Amino acid sequence: MQQPIDNANKPIIGISACVAGQEVRYNASHKRSKYCMDTLSAYFRYRPFCPEVAIGLPVPRPAIRIVERDNQLTLVETHEPKDDHAPAIEAYAAKVAAGMRDASGFIFMQKSPTCGLGSAKVYGIKGGPLRSDDGLFVRALRKHLPLLPITEAGRLNDAKLREHFFAQVYAYHEWQTEIMPNLSVRQLTDFHYRYKMTLRAHDQVILRQLGKLLADPHNVSLEELAQRYIEDFMRALSKVIGVKHHAYAMTRMVHYMKRWMTTDERQYADQLIEQYKQGSIPLVAPMSTLRFFMQKYQCAKRLAVWEPYPQELGLQNAI
Ligand code: SF4
Repeated sequence: MQQPIDNANKPIIGISACVAGQEVRYNASHKRSKYCMDTLSAYFRYRPFCPEVAIGLPVPRPAIRIVERDNQLTLVETHEPKDDHAPAIEAYAAKVAAGMRDASGFIFMQKSPTCGLGSAKVYGIKGGPLRSDDGLFVRALRKHLPLLPITEAGRLNDAKLREHFFAQVYAYHEWQTEIMPNLSVRQLTDFHYRYKMTLRAHDQVILRQLGKLLADPHNVSLEELAQRYIEDFMRALSKVIGVKHHAYAMTRMVHYMKRWMTTDERQYADQLIEQYKQGSIPLVAPMSTLRFFMQKYQCAKRLAVWEPYPQELGLQNAI
């Protein structure tokens, strides 16, 4: 049976208040995500924010949109574009960022001119849409918290993007709660070892660079070393990986265990990885088998690739 997770150990996730079910949208409705609020809430502590309400806009309110004017992005009412709310949203994002240094992720509402992540429409002064971009709150928050894993509620419907987001959240949470409070070269090296296989699946060039950085830190201070490490680490993890990369990581896992596994076990594991590559079984099938062998032989337990997030989240069931 699944053990309840102690609330204090759950990663903190910021969330657009309308996704959390608050009736704060321009038309006084919400966009509650059942998946976020019913399924995921057992694993995370949410902090909801509605930037538009926080800067004093009423509920209900006229719809607003991003208008590009003289190369500047403004946030104005669709039918009465006289007041620009962009400066207030940017100031509010700075305030939120200061209080969110302990957060491990943020889930935004898609298509909003304030909260959209790459999905907010930018209009020209003549009224036509120019392109899609980040909403202005997202844009400002990213400047203050560039390492924070972020996504949109809509992207969590895509199994691959969902797995990718939570893999980043849990790795960042480990960094924040286990590495930074007891920072030492030993801690950094252990963290690097734990994530080596994960990094290899995401970006082999960054893996090599990080290995060199830790081996020869050029007299930089420990804090600077940690900062440089985590910037590149999160950059590597921000790359979405596919079947080929997961299969590669699993092949390496088998390679790790080959001295303990019998020939039959190895062949069985290879066969499952091949079936996963062909698309006939999901990732969870070979991964469960590899975890069984890992437990059987009590080996390589410290590698994050074995269990990057709680299995009960079912993140490997559909990819
Ligand atoms: S999308 Fe953002 S600004 Fe708009 S209602 Fe939701 S939380 Fe508020």
